[in-house]
Amino acid sequence: MGWSMNIGRLFGIPVKVHFTLLILLGFLLLASSSTGGGLYGVLIAVLLFASVVAHELGHALVARRYGVATKEIVLLPIGGAALLSQSPKEPRHELLIAIAGPVVSLALSGVAWVLWQAIAFTVLADLFVVNLMLGLFNLLPAFPMDGGRILRAGLARWMGNLRATRVAAKLGRLVAVAFVVIAAVYGQLFLGLIGAFIFFAATAEERAAIIQNIVGPRRIRDMMQATPDVLGAGATVAEAIAGFSLSPGLTALPVAFGTRVMGVVYRSDAVGIPSPDEHLIHELVDRNVITHRGDAPLMELLTQMGQSRSRAAVVTTDDEVVGVVTLERVLEEIRSARSAEF
Ligand SMILES: [Zn+2]
Repeated sequence: MGWSMNIGRLFGIPVKVHFTLLILLGFLLLASSSTGGGLYGVLIAVLLFASVVAHELGHALVARRYGVATKEIVLLPIGGAALLSQSPKEPRHELLIAIAGPVVSLALSGVAWVLWQAIAFTVLADLFVVNLMLGLFNLLPAFPMDGGRILRAGLARWMGNLRATRVAAKLGRLVAVAFVVIAAVYGQLFLGLIGAFIFFAATAEERAAIIQNIVGPRRIRDMMQATPDVLGAGATVAEAIAGFSLSPGLTALPVAFGTRVMGVVYRSDAVGIPSPDEHLIHELVDRNVITHRGDAPLMELLTQMGQSRSRAAVVTTDDEVVGVVTLERVLEEIRSARSAEF
């Protein structure tokens, strides 16, 4: 996650603080030092962080048990987030990973309560309340909060992952709107922020699940446009236009120097050029393309394209160019598949 500062590692997992939280803490510290409660405020803040980290570690360590690594734990003004490297494959694993955080928080609050009964330290009472709130609040069925994930995992068992995500995201947005309304009525800015976050996060996760569902089962060649022709590096724009006119649906043509793929030329770039027989193709070549085997999973290609910000990929079989995949076409396919569902 961008805009965050590393503060150390726990069980091999980097723990980071988001800058917005640092700024917020600065303000709180300034405010509390002017009212005189400075040191106690800092102590409470540290305990709150430790509680959030313990909660996220609960998720991360159960995830590790099921073979899912955690990239990092980030502390945010609205709580924490354990960023998993991938989604758990089985609903049962997601359920156990999701429930582990609140279980840790509720257990810590129980321990704090017992200690508080034995030694009446105010800090222990605060620790009890903080962890109780962390545990209970996260159990609200507002996807993508823990309670929402537990709900989705439960639903996924009998309606499949995609439908379960849609139902959970809808409920998540409903709870989010309720938060914002309550926040507006009672002037609770913080609750309003959490509501806004849940609303957008629910929508983003829903979108990701839809894409996973459409793209996940496909291979690269399923989304490939076959290219009967490969342009040489010395070809003219007119030759490219002639190549496009042979296959009407084709949006990009591969360009190669011998057997080495140089890039692609897009139809939209080629057709607009005046006196195309006087221009060479290399002026128009998009070199930021990926070359990939056609039998690999489409998701693998899209991840690579996303990382290198490529708009197109050249597909090969036995080192021979057989087609292209353009991002534009994949997005169109996702859009039409989305509107065809429900
Ligand atoms: Zn959690």
